[in-house]
Amino acid sequence: MNVLLVTGGSRGIGADIARLASERGWSVGINYASNAASAEEVLADVRGNGVKGCAVRADVSNPDNVAAMFEEVERDLGPISGLVNSAGIATGMGKIETLDFEKTRRMLEINVLGLFLCCQHAVRRMARCHGGKGGAIVNISSSAARAGSPGRFVDYAAAKAAVDTLTIGLAKEQGPEGIRVNAVRPGIINTEMAAEQAAKNPTWLERAIADTPLGRIGELRDVSTAVLWLLSSEAQHTTGTIMDISGGRWTQ
Ligand code: NAP
Repeated sequence: MNVLLVTGGSRGIGADIARLASERGWSVGINYASNAASAEEVLADVRGNGVKGCAVRADVSNPDNVAAMFEEVERDLGPISGLVNSAGIATGMGKIETLDFEKTRRMLEINVLGLFLCCQHAVRRMARCHGGKGGAIVNISSSAARAGSPGRFVDYAAAKAAVDTLTIGLAKEQGPEGIRVNAVRPGIINTEMAAEQAAKNPTWLERAIADTPLGRIGELRDVSTAVLWLLSSEAQHTTGTIMDISGGRWTQ
């Protein structure tokens, strides 16, 4: 049985990935930071698809929490063969001189260091040199990494660029260990995170849609179907790839 851990699996993109993974036969560990009720809803859906699941509270930026999370998932579900790093937060909107440094620091702790930490633990379990059977990691980046997001959140964009580079490096480093590492770069996806950003700047969403060749923002399934493909054996010769899921829009 394939076992997948989804960080930030309680809401948004991570929750949809957890649900779709369970439809495709994966047992799923659903990580969350504080929203236990949402995590339990996802867990009920996962189990409803006839597979095993567990919900694990852990702050991905806390090393002790992350170590305990991997242990709990493996105790409940068995050895992991997949990791999706979806836990993430956005920061304020504005030019660099207006951004709050403490918010930026927290965002980097979660979006970069937390993701790094989870990759570390996954590799220690999945790499052949550690007695593992290999596996697949998919990181949730953002089209902001290519756009740079001037005037909006250059800090968040830079954090996602770090995710892209880590994906490429890890793919090369861990390929011989049987671990494939890929990422997706969603554009604006219909989630609470996007709604919060739209509330702060109402014209942003309208302008973004007008700017998108495919004429709409993304839906959760646009992302989760791509992630499930990258996790699957159909993608067995694909590693170090960063897949854009942005309706053809490169600016942000
Ligand atoms: P979301 O709906 O706000 O959900 C965020 C998820 O991350 C929740 O499950 C939350 O848990 C979890 N989380 C937050 N801080 C955490 C921490 N310290 N430790 C563990 N889990 C934590 O976000 P989303 O829109 O689905 O975004 C998911 C990912 O996609 C992020 O990496 C984001 O940067 C990226 N992304 C999103 C968009 C978009 O338009 N939405 C576009 C491009 C990229 P709780 O439920 O417990 O709070």
